Amino acid sequence: MEKIVIIGGVAAGATAAAKARRLSADAEITILEAGADISFANCGLPYYIGGDIKSRSKLILQSPESFNEAYQTNVHIHTSATKIDRANKRVHTLNSKTGEEKTFDYTKLILAQGGKPIAPPIKGADQDNVFQLWTLEDMDNIESYISKYNPKTAVVVGGGFIGLEMAEAFTKRGLKVSIVEMMPHVMGIMEAETAGVIQEELLAYNVDLYTGKAVTEISSHEVILNDGKSVDADLVLLSIGVRPTLTLAKEAGLEIGQAGGLLVDSTLKTSDDDIYAAGDMVELEHRVMDKKVRIPLAGPANRQGRIAAENALGKKHEYKGSIGTSIVKVFEAIAGITGLSLKAARAEGLDADAIVVHKEHHTSYYPGAEMVSVLVVYDKSTGVILGGQTAGYEGADRRLDVLATAVASKLTITDLADMDFAYSPPLGNANDAINMAAYVAENRQSGYSPTLTVDEVDAYLDEHKAHWIDLRDVFSYEKSHVEGAISLPFELLHSTISQLPKHDLFLIYDQTGKKGHQALRQLIGAGFTNVINVSGGYLSLSHYVRANTPKNFILELGHPELKTLGENEGHEEEETTEVELNDTGRLVVDTRTAEEYAYGAYPGAINISLDEIERRASELGHLDREIVLYCASGARSAYATRILKHLGFTNVTNGGGIARMMANYRE
Ligand SMILES: Cc1cc2nc3c(=O)[nH]c(=O)nc-3n(C[C@H](O)[C@H](O)[C@H](O)COP(=O)(O)OP(=O)(O)OC[C@H]3O[C@@H](n4cnc5c(N)ncnc54)[C@H](O)[C@@H]3O)c2cc1C
Repeated sequence: MEKIVIIGGVAAGATAAAKARRLSADAEITILEAGADISFANCGLPYYIGGDIKSRSKLILQSPESFNEAYQTNVHIHTSATKIDRANKRVHTLNSKTGEEKTFDYTKLILAQGGKPIAPPIKGADQDNVFQLWTLEDMDNIESYISKYNPKTAVVVGGGFIGLEMAEAFTKRGLKVSIVEMMPHVMGIMEAETAGVIQEELLAYNVDLYTGKAVTEISSHEVILNDGKSVDADLVLLSIGVRPTLTLAKEAGLEIGQAGGLLVDSTLKTSDDDIYAAGDMVELEHRVMDKKVRIPLAGPANRQGRIAAENALGKKHEYKGSIGTSIVKVFEAIAGITGLSLKAARAEGLDADAIVVHKEHHTSYYPGAEMVSVLVVYDKSTGVILGGQTAGYEGADRRLDVLATAVASKLTITDLADMDFAYSPPLGNANDAINMAAYVAENRQSGYSPTLTVDEVDAYLDEHKAHWIDLRDVFSYEKSHVEGAISLPFELLHSTISQLPKHDLFLIYDQTGKKGHQALRQLIGAGFTNVINVSGGYLSLSHYVRANTPKNFILELGHPELKTLGENEGHEEEETTEVELNDTGRLVVDTRTAEEYAYGAYPGAINISLDEIERRASELGHLDREIVLYCASGARSAYATRILKHLGFTNVTNGGGIARMMANYRE
C-alpha cells in the first residue's frame, strides 16, 4: 500500500491530498502542516481586512476534521517537518504546541511547503507596527492592531498585487495610505501603458505613490525614504516578494535549480525518485522563454499539486510549464499580465514588438461601456504571441484570459484576428478589443501602419527630432496635450494636409490610436514618408505618463478626479440640460449627449441630443429661425437636420463635426 506523506497543507498540499484520495481508495495519506490551518484562502486575506469578506470563517475552506472526513487523510496541524531521512524514507516532525517529536514513513513524499514573504533588512522593521501578510495569523495580527490602536496612516512597501490589494483594504478601513515601490511604477512586471491605469486609480482614491524609492528606516509613526523624505506611517506593511521555503529540501540534499527554486522535472519529481514537489517552492519551465522560473501563484500551485499526486501514484502526467498569468483588482480598476512583457521578451533576446489598443468592453452605444486597454507582445517575424497585458474596468479580465490561452497555445496574431468571440451589445463588440489588437499588430508587422509604443517613441526621440500632431478635438487638446504638439483635429486633416512639410518626421496621436491609423494612411497616401502613429494614442501616452517619466517629451496631467468609496458603482443616467430659449437669433445646437457636451462645446451652443430633438423642437423658436446643428462627426447632426426639416424648419444647416465647427468659429 502506498504511504503518501505531504509536507504543507494549503494550496498545493491540500490539492495533492484530495487528488491522491480520488485516485486511490486505499493509499494512506498524511498531511503535515506547521501552521494552525490547512486549506485556507490566503488569496482572500486582504478582502477580510478591507471588509469585503465579513466572516473570517469563510476563509477557512477545510478544517483537519472536515478534510479527514471528505478525503480520509490524517491531518497533523502545528506539525513541522524537521528532517527528511531519504535513506529510510522517513520524515521527522516536531509539534509546536506539545513539543512532541514523531516520525512518518512514506513510500512517496510530496513537498508543498510554499514560500515566505521576504523580510527586508530595514532598520526598524522589527517594530510592533510593521507587518507582513501571508497567513491567517498575520491577518489577525493586522486586524487586532487596527482595532486596538486605530492607526490613521499606513505605508505599504511594495507595489505588487498583494501590496496593492492591501492599499485598497487599508483605505477601506479609513487609513490614509502611501505606497513605496522601488520600480518606476507599481506592478513593475507590466508595461507603463497598462500599469498606469492602476496608478491613476490609486491616485483617484487618494493613495500617495512614492515610486522609484526605497524605505531605509521605519519608526513608530513614519518611514524614511532613500531620498531623505519622511512619510507618515502608523502602520507599515512589507510586501516585497516571496522566497521559497527550501531549508528542509536543501538539508536533505535535493537539487536546487538556477532560478533558486527546488528543481523538479516535467513530472514534478525532484532529484529523488520518491519525492515530488509542487507550488511556490519549485522552479519550472516557462512556456514562452524556455527557461526555468519561479512563479509563486495559486493557479499553478493547485494544478501542480494535482499532477504531483497523480505521478506519485504511478501516472505520467507532464506539467507543461507556466506562463505566469496574474491579475489584480484595485478599487474598481483591473490590470493583468500573461506571458512576457515587451521588456522581458527583448531582454531574453527575442525579436519582439508590441502594440496597444483601447476599446470599449461592449458596444459603445449600450450604457456602461468601459474602456479596456490591450497590449499584445508578439514575435516580429512569426507573429506568435509571446505575452499580453490588459487594464481597465469591466472586461479586462476576460481579454487577459483570451491572451493567456493564445500565449499557452502559441497562437499567432493572425489566429487572433480571425477568432470569433461572443458578442451581444451588452456583452461585447462585433469586433472585440482582442480582434482589434490583432489587426493593429498585423498592420505594424507588415509595415502598413508604422506604430511605436510610448516607450519606443521616447527612446526613438533620443536620436530623432519630430513634429507632434494631436488629432483629437480642440477641447481634449486644451485639457492636456504633448508639449509642442500641433492641434490638428482629424476631421480637418484632409483640408490642411498640403500645408505640412512632407518629408519631416511626424508623431501623430488621436484618442485611442484608431483615427491615428486612418490619419497615418491619409498622410502616407499624400506622399508623406516619415509618419509614426503612437500605439494606443493619447490614452497610451497618458497611462504611460501616470506610471513613468518620459525623457524626451512632456505631457502634463493634473491629479485625477478624486473618487469616493462606494459612490462610483453603477452608471449614471444620461441627462440633457434643459435650456431657456427666448432669443430669436442664430441658434447653434449640439446634438451630442450631455456627457460629450459637458466635456467641451462650441461657444454659445445649447445641448439637445439627437434623441431629444423631435420632442423638444418646439423650444427652438420660429420655423424660419437660423439653426446650425453639429455633433462629434457630423452624422448625428445630419439626422437631426433631417428631423427638423421634416417638422417644417426652413433655415437649418448641418455644421458637421465639432472640429469643423470650431475651425469655422476661429475663422
Ligand atoms: C495575501 C495573499 C494574496 C494572494 N493572492 C493571490 C492571488 O490573488 N492570485 C494568485 O494566483 N496567488 C495569490 N497568492 C499566492 C498564492 O496564495 C500562493 O501562490 C499559493 O498559496 C502557493 O501555494 P503553496 O501550496 O505552494 O504554498 P502555501 O499556500 O504557502 O502553503 C505552504 C504551507 O506549507 C507549510 N509548511 C512549510 N514548511 C513546512 C514544514 N517544514 N512542515 C510542515 N509544514 C510546512 C506552511 O506552513 C504553509 O501553510 C496570494 C498570497 C497571499 C499571501
